[in-house]
Amino acid sequence: MFVTLRSPGDLDEVARELQGLGVWTERVEGPSGTVALFLRADSSRVARERLEAIEGVAGVWQSPSAHPRLDALAGRAVAIARRTSSSALLGPGAAAILASGPCSVESEAQILEAARLARRAGAVLLRGGAFKPRSSPYSFAGHGKSALSWLRAAADETGLGVVTEVMSEADVEAVAEVADVIQVGSRNMQAFALLRAVGRANKPVFLKRGMAATVEEWLLAAEHLLVAGAAGVVLCERGLRGFDPATRNLLDLGSVALVAHVLGLPVVVDPSHAAGRRDLVLPLARAALAAGAHGLLIECHPRPAQAMSDGPQALDEDALLALSHSCGFGTRGAER
Ligand code: PEP
Ligand code: MN
Repeated sequence: MFVTLRSPGDLDEVARELQGLGVWTERVEGPSGTVALFLRADSSRVARERLEAIEGVAGVWQSPSAHPRLDALAGRAVAIARRTSSSALLGPGAAAILASGPCSVESEAQILEAARLARRAGAVLLRGGAFKPRSSPYSFAGHGKSALSWLRAAADETGLGVVTEVMSEADVEAVAEVADVIQVGSRNMQAFALLRAVGRANKPVFLKRGMAATVEEWLLAAEHLLVAGAAGVVLCERGLRGFDPATRNLLDLGSVALVAHVLGLPVVVDPSHAAGRRDLVLPLARAALAAGAHGLLIECHPRPAQAMSDGPQALDEDALLALSHSCGFGTRGAER
């Protein structure tokens, strides 16, 4: 529930009055600079008439939505800081962007080579995993903290921002130190304690859709991040668990059109994990942009055949440059 004010100057007085009634509030700003007070759910229940009677209160508004904080961000792009170049905007009103990199950060040399490749392809964000969610406990699960510093150094040298996944609450601090955007993976979309810990890091978050999650569950997971303090949420569609193994996942572009065009929220698409095979990445990438995606996550590798994870879907340099050209990301030609 929100309390709107006659004038922004009434804010402190109204908040104090409400506190006296046992109602805890948070200041919220609307898209056009309007200020309101959000009534926290753990407050005492007070009759609507009593709230309306407080001096300075213009109205009491009950949001019909279960994710009011997310709704309040509609129409706004998320600002993503980068350390050695200007910040990037991702979302409604901003040009679509490319985030690319290898599935796993394999070595200092490999991630630098991949970062240069991503930059040549016009990427603004370098995406690579230090902590990898793997179905088998015997698969390579990332180099952990040492990979984080290699990732940061490669991004800084190439002027890119860093996107990387965190899987455990215990690693949030270390990941937040190097990441410009923290990724929450599909398998953890409803790991609520992790969402809270990631939100507290106060960074923008790429929230992958759970492979069997409804759109509403995805939006509620984003609300968890925002309640805890996330600086913004970008929803990431990566395909749902389908019945047909011909493609690894079923890429739900209807949800992308819904999020981008109806809800007006930032959304990116990961055709690499959706397809699981490199020959489908380009057509799905183009389809995602046509559906309204504000950006793409594309896995690339300097030598896909040698990748320690997800090699079959990784694009090599020529394929990434071709995708970038085809999607209008603006390649940087022969720059090394
Ligand atoms: C990934 O992005 O590296 C990944 C494992 O993807 P997802 O969580 O979508 O499966
Ligand atoms: Mn991968």
